[in-house]
Amino acid sequence: MIKFEEALNIVLGSVSTLAPEEVSIIDSLERVLAGDVYSDCDIPAFDYSAMDGFALRFADTKGALPESCIRLEIVGEFRAGGDTSSKVGPGEAVRIMTGAPIPEGADAVIMVEKTKENGGIVEICEEVEAGDNIRLTGEDINNGDLVIHKGTLLNSAHVGMFASLGISRVNVIKKPRVALLMTGDEVIGIDEEIRPGKVRNSNAYSLFCQVKKYGGAPVNMGTARDEKDSLRERLKSCLDCDLIITSGGVSMGEYDYVKDVMNEIGMEQKFWKVAMRPGKPNLFGLIDGKPFFGLPGNPVSGMVGFEVFIGPAIRKMLGQKDEERDVDAILQEDIKKKKGLMFFIRAVTRWEGGRYVTKTTGPQGSGMLSSMVRANSLIILPEDEQLIKQGTMVKVRLL
Ligand code: AMP
Ligand code: MG
Repeated sequence: MIKFEEALNIVLGSVSTLAPEEVSIIDSLERVLAGDVYSDCDIPAFDYSAMDGFALRFADTKGALPESCIRLEIVGEFRAGGDTSSKVGPGEAVRIMTGAPIPEGADAVIMVEKTKENGGIVEICEEVEAGDNIRLTGEDINNGDLVIHKGTLLNSAHVGMFASLGISRVNVIKKPRVALLMTGDEVIGIDEEIRPGKVRNSNAYSLFCQVKKYGGAPVNMGTARDEKDSLRERLKSCLDCDLIITSGGVSMGEYDYVKDVMNEIGMEQKFWKVAMRPGKPNLFGLIDGKPFFGLPGNPVSGMVGFEVFIGPAIRKMLGQKDEERDVDAILQEDIKKKKGLMFFIRAVTRWEGGRYVTKTTGPQGSGMLSSMVRANSLIILPEDEQLIKQGTMVKVRLL
């Protein structure tokens, strides 16, 4: 049996980032950028007006007051994308719309709401400062800037930025294809009648969604019977995926064959039992250089094992920079635990009065999926702790 930290280090040390692939920017949403993206232009590409109003020389407005307005002659009109031939001389103004270039000679824009217009003349009754309402060339992005870093999980704003940089296709890291193989003679389809001795296949669905949540591409490989031949055949068919996950059949039971069969077909076993709860049996190894996880069949153990080992592994395969997801929270009840095991306790954590507070979801049986349904987080309690008192600051992983 190994410690959780050691097991996690082994996992992260055993997986590497997958190759990139080129996709259209609209398909890059929620993918991970494979290389730094630089700008080859200034944005904006020209000085332009941020307001509908009048472009003028700020010096012309010196001394303007509500009781002594100044008057400028309107010598032209600039609309966004329109003609830009007029110039602004002393005593002159150009009517301008948002997005239109600043006319030569002008150095400020006054918004239309602050002016009065009368027969080709605009009246201005307050002083304007140099640069008012002008957006400058390159004020958003400069030519040569590193705009989006490699390893970024792309969102809608990134996609918009690619578009404004004139980039229509980008390199993202391939989604890891993740094989999901269930095991168990008692496991039945979710549309089958439930009857004594049988259990509906919830793990196939929760694990499928966890793979998707972390950015992998789940591949449902069905359910193997608790027989070596059935397992061997099914496991072999998983080997063209980038990561292989099985559920069940990794404990001490007479018919728990996953470990034996995996070793038989060539897995280099890295660990089998981890000092943690839920889910002590967590088989991990490499087969054909690909990571293999044998999760316990208990629904909660499987999901927690996924969160703490497989999630981080997928993030590394995607080349994602690891962001801190753990927060400190005040424990709102006493917790007793077994010494020597790392505990991951299903919890509800909320922001309250300027800090996080957390409490357990109640009964923590590893077969009780309801404890996971109510949880938004896991309280992480280290091996050597035994009694954690209400009011203690604890580490919490937000799910
Ligand atoms: P195992 O790890 O195979 O010993 O299974 C532990 C427990 O998890 C047993 O009660 C199984 O019935 C249950 N179980 C195993 N596989 C699944 C599954 N795919 N969906 C829901 N429960 C399962
Ligand atoms: Mg089983």
